[in-house]
Amino acid sequence: MRIVVLAGGIGGARFLRGLKQAAPDAEITVVGNTGDDIHLFGLKVCPDLDTVMYTLGGGINEEQGWGRTDESFTVKEELAAYGVGPEWFGLGDRDFATHIVRTQMLAAGYPLSAVTEALCARWQPGVRLLPMSDDRVETHVAIEVDGERRAVHFQEYWVKLRASVDAKAVVPVGAEAAKPAPGVLEAVAEADVILFPPSNPVVSVGTILAVPGIREAVAAAGAPVVGLSPIVGDAPVRGMADKVLAAVGVESTAAAVALHYGTGLLDGWLVDTVDAGAVADVEAAGIPCRAVPLMMTDADATAAMARAALALAEEVRG
Ligand code: GDP
Ligand code: CA
Repeated sequence: MRIVVLAGGIGGARFLRGLKQAAPDAEITVVGNTGDDIHLFGLKVCPDLDTVMYTLGGGINEEQGWGRTDESFTVKEELAAYGVGPEWFGLGDRDFATHIVRTQMLAAGYPLSAVTEALCARWQPGVRLLPMSDDRVETHVAIEVDGERRAVHFQEYWVKLRASVDAKAVVPVGAEAAKPAPGVLEAVAEADVILFPPSNPVVSVGTILAVPGIREAVAAAGAPVVGLSPIVGDAPVRGMADKVLAAVGVESTAAAVALHYGTGLLDGWLVDTVDAGAVADVEAAGIPCRAVPLMMTDADATAAMARAALALAEEVRG
């Protein structure tokens, strides 16, 4: 079975671990979000790709959900001693090596997809990890400070400001001119199942779908498309997804996110059991929906979520 997953960082990566356990023989292709990418200290950092790679490759800081395990911060401290920031973005010594290798390969002319493959040769994530695009896309967030509107990089909004001010708009800068990375459209077209993990619907899955051709390919795919809600009990399970959902006029409920994706994309939707009341609303909109536990508390609970998604995909397969 060929499964394609459109993934952001932590939510996507943790779900993928459960999916691998639930479907050990499946050929899994991950289309990763690169809208969160940022250049720091002259280095190209791809937080979502790395979170997937480290999580599936056994190198992730489990408690944090991002960054390397057994990390130290000597380089960051030395940079700070020179007064060189930003200090709000946590880059550890081990993590730095990844960004150095990536930047060096990019400078030598390799596209990001080839660089990602090379990095994965070390980590052996057990999935084919593709960036959504080899072209530069950077998510910016429009905010208003003291009555003045300005745009900040997504990481500045998320990590530095902790989404403490309202997002007025979310713009994947460069997306309109970006091309899907090699293999992305083929994987979507040839998939037996397409899954939207409980990743951020706006700045993770939404950004991937903003690359021209990807949304169209998912909508046209022969495979059933099933999503899992990142919103449980009317709030994000972790993080501040409610802030960016509000920016696109979507309520932070499991049903509203399903309707945001809509029948044009979704053939099935899973909500948590606490949101069982939303099932009827989602189905009334034409999207088959089931309520199952959706908290990724451990590997078995996550694998059960993946099995439920695959079961719904079989049920709705046309
Ligand atoms: P990011 O790039 O690291 O922000 O990660 P993603 O976009 O992949 O996922 C973030 C989303 O995952 C957030 O909106 C969370 O609500 C959601 N999430 C995190 N843990 C869980 C969980 O255990 N269950 C569900 N249903 N959603 C989760
Ligand atoms: Ca992310």
